[in-house]
Parts: sequence; C-alpha cells; structure tokens
Amino acid sequence: MTKQQILICDILANVHDHLNAEQIFLLAREKLPNIAMGTVYRNLNQLANEGQIRRLTVPGQPDRFDRNPMPHGHLVCRDCGKLEDLFLPDLEDYLQARCGTEITHYELTMGHICPHCQEK
Ligand SMILES: [Zn+2]
Ligand SMILES: [Zn+2]
Repeated sequence: MTKQQILICDILANVHDHLNAEQIFLLAREKLPNIAMGTVYRNLNQLANEGQIRRLTVPGQPDRFDRNPMPHGHLVCRDCGKLEDLFLPDLEDYLQARCGTEITHYELTMGHICPHCQEK
C-alpha cells in the first residue's frame, strides 16, 4: 500500500464511522497538507476494488466508505442520511444455510426514518 492508502485506511479505522470522500479528504489533509482531492478519490477507488474497504452507495447521497472488516448490514435514514451498522448473526446463519456454500460477503442496506427525524 502507498503512504496515501495507509493514511486513508487509518482515518476510516479511527473514526469508526462511514465517511464520504470529501470528509476523508479534509482529515487526510491534516496529515498530508499537499494531498489532492483527486488523489483521495483514486485511492478510495483502488482500495474498494481490492476489497480493503467497502463502498456504500445510497441513492441521492455521496458514496461513503467503510473499513469494518466484519460482515454487517446498514440502516440508512431516508430523511437525514444517518447511517448505522447492523450486525445480523441470525440472518447470516440463515443465508449460509440457504446458500449451501460459505458466504464470503453480502451487501444489505435498509432504509428507515430514524427516531430523531420521526419526532419532527
Ligand atoms: Zn434521520
Ligand atoms: Zn458499516
């Protein structure tokens, strides 16, 4: 991995959150003041293609990136875009049984309206 890729992975691992490219760029610039937005985009694409990080695509929102290597699904608020991790071991057991072969990864993003937005 390049210096830039290690930095991007460190940022995602440390925040324990799902950041978009611009948020990652702003944090990366604190460590590498000369880093360009295009460099961040290019490295994010490379890391996602290599499976080092996961790209989360939510319609109408910029892609976000996830460094958590544990299989998990996501719950996204339709109003504010807040995104939460959901660990679903029961579901994984079920899918595993249905597949018959070992599942190496899965993609699951569910929409809802979060409690905060429901109050509005
Ligand atoms: Zn919300
Ligand atoms: Zn996640």
